[in-house]
Amino acid sequence: MQIVSVVVNKTARVLDRLFDYRIPVHLENRIKIGMLVFVPFGKANQLVEAYVVGFPESTTLEELKEIDSVIEPEPLFDEKLLELIFFMKKRYFSTYLAAIKTVVPYGVGLKGKTVSDKVLKGSALALSYDEAFLALDAARNKAPMQARIIELLMQNDFIANVDIQMMLGCSSGAIRALEQKGVISPVEIEIFRNPIDYTAIKPTKALVPNPDQEKAISAILDAINAFSVFLLHGVTGSGKTEIFLQCIENVLKQGKTAIVLVPEISLTPQMINRFAGRFGKQIAVLHSRLSMGERNDEYKRIKSGEAKVVIGVRSAIFAPIQNLGLIVVDEEHEASYKSQSVPSYHAREMAAMRAKQNDIPLVLASATPSIESYYKALSGKYKLLTLENRANRQTMPDVSIVDMRQELANGNRSLFSGLLKDEIQKNLENGQQTILFLNRRGFSTFISCRSCGYVVKCPRCNIALTYHKNKDYLTCHYCGYTQKNLHTCPDCGSHYIKHFGTGTQKVEEELSELFPEAKILRMDLDTVSAKNSHQKILDRFEKEKIDILIGTQMVTKGLDFENVTLVGVLAADMSLNLDDYRANEKTFDLITQVCGRAGRGSYAGRAVIQSYNPENAVLQMAKYQDYNAFYEDEITLRKTLMYPPFCDLLSIVFTAFNESYATNCAKKAAQWLKDRLPRGVEVLGPGPCGFNKMNNKYRKRILIKCRLNDTIINVITEYMNVHYQSKENQSVSILTETNPIHMM
Ligand code: ADP
Ligand code: ZN
Ligand code: ZN
Repeated sequence: MQIVSVVVNKTARVLDRLFDYRIPVHLENRIKIGMLVFVPFGKANQLVEAYVVGFPESTTLEELKEIDSVIEPEPLFDEKLLELIFFMKKRYFSTYLAAIKTVVPYGVGLKGKTVSDKVLKGSALALSYDEAFLALDAARNKAPMQARIIELLMQNDFIANVDIQMMLGCSSGAIRALEQKGVISPVEIEIFRNPIDYTAIKPTKALVPNPDQEKAISAILDAINAFSVFLLHGVTGSGKTEIFLQCIENVLKQGKTAIVLVPEISLTPQMINRFAGRFGKQIAVLHSRLSMGERNDEYKRIKSGEAKVVIGVRSAIFAPIQNLGLIVVDEEHEASYKSQSVPSYHAREMAAMRAKQNDIPLVLASATPSIESYYKALSGKYKLLTLENRANRQTMPDVSIVDMRQELANGNRSLFSGLLKDEIQKNLENGQQTILFLNRRGFSTFISCRSCGYVVKCPRCNIALTYHKNKDYLTCHYCGYTQKNLHTCPDCGSHYIKHFGTGTQKVEEELSELFPEAKILRMDLDTVSAKNSHQKILDRFEKEKIDILIGTQMVTKGLDFENVTLVGVLAADMSLNLDDYRANEKTFDLITQVCGRAGRGSYAGRAVIQSYNPENAVLQMAKYQDYNAFYEDEITLRKTLMYPPFCDLLSIVFTAFNESYATNCAKKAAQWLKDRLPRGVEVLGPGPCGFNKMNNKYRKRILIKCRLNDTIINVITEYMNVHYQSKENQSVSILTETNPIHMM
């Protein structure tokens, strides 16, 4: 008798286990891992979809039902991807089904409708990511289908409504209901029928590598037949991409394939054209602007072996490509490699697993490597490759840091320092372009003194305390430490102590008053939509020679404009004082990236950084682009305070309509966990979240600091089971995340 284990396509938590079935005689030896089949399920033997995940030798069940039929004869994943599915289920506290659906993108394998229109009706989130997260929590119990739609739109910028309906099997009513609630908004999606316009692409040949590049290329190629991880550290423009291209060329010559991951924001036509120029039609591109039909096409090309180089965003790490020879993760420090929904996997971690499975190298590249990766490189776990100079010998921009406290003392209350105003004026006169950067996180504000720069921090965690407006108090999002808001500065006695928070809109207003003749363009979450894409705004900036571009995070990455010679950072302190242990790392990366935008052409670039803390060591090291000094300081701090890479952080968020339910449940959970977790594991909280309350639901967080291992994973998984089985906890939902990127 042949037996299979399956995961049924039903989302209920109680069904999150493997079910055994017998293979009927007529299907013997024809069932494979990854197939989608119909099985009779429950008392009524209703037919449900199920994924085949194993062939157990025996079963404990006395009577086995039989598989009904095969839906998809072509397996949707193989044994190697199955291993990743099981790994994610465990490490990220996900269900089997959620892990499978992460590896098998929605719609792949299903017979997708072919779409002939150029424009499709679609939907996008109407809320900020943080608000959506809470809307999701609210919908989870009452309207699970709506919750799934929100989840889907949190993972994708926008999706065609036909795709949503087909992916989730929902009605158009669910989409309309969310629209009426203002959670999502309708958009028109322009379909890229041909992701790449090959007629416009000029073939390129490998450049003669410089000595640093030569060293890196031969180190990687020498190690091509075994698992290893390289960290390629080189300033922007140092020729890292050229190194990938040459290594991949070699891999293809050996008849093997490659995956290249890039952050969503750098998957620009410029980047795609570089790969297409070198590899022609052997490349496949996976990103969120593909229609479901096209995604299906790309998957078929990958599976059949026609496409040999996959370039894509985070989820492309699961591309069903065979015969892998090399994996590259570009800008490896980017936060977008971490998924924000369950399972909250990190693409870098998945890339390492895939490289290991295939006995091949993984190349991580960055101008500002994550502290975790650099630590591994220095400790010998990764091999470090360094590129010291820009490949085309351009000089780095000239960076000035302006003391905004001094500006205030001199009576300048504007958002712009004297120096920045002068420099903008010069650029306007010379017909050169300027980018102004403003870091903004809608919900989180810290308190700082505008006279002396003092920032109120948690005495235990050294993280900026967050201001909660409704109750006028300050609180630490890590340990829950709370204190009353301050109205005078404890350091200098000034009354000019207040919370920070300036929007791009306000910057735009003041700027047009100062320079009425300047052409100004704004790029932030409010102005970027499906129709008015990131890329379109950038095209306008370039083609129409707009004088000034104001933007948030989006303007920092990968832009390469010849005529941009000035970059201004309006409030560098914003990112220095994030309520996050990575605040320094993010600031260093941000300033490096921002400064990298200036002076890419033949003119020298300047960068002006405004700060209330100009003597801050991170800013100073960023000014001189001294990554090594920055790393030394930061790793010491991380070690002292026990933050990653010296531990893992686990967050469990409790959400309920009744605040005391959430609090009590979190308190009990904290005690339950303390009683069972090994000694030395720190259980912090419960404390409040970035958003304490939304949609009338309260949120509390427990934070666990530990070195994650099987024992700890088992205790937490057991807790989750206990939680979901208890009637008492029914009104409290929980979300567990491993090493979260945002503490919301
Ligand atoms: P990175 O990926 O580190 O930002 P790139 O590979 O994009 O760097 O290289 C930056 C610029 O230098 C590109 O215009 C590229 O064509 C050029 N370049 C890279 N390597 C060489 C080389 N060996 N000889 C000449 N130009 C090079
Ligand atoms: Zn604290
Ligand atoms: Zn002060």
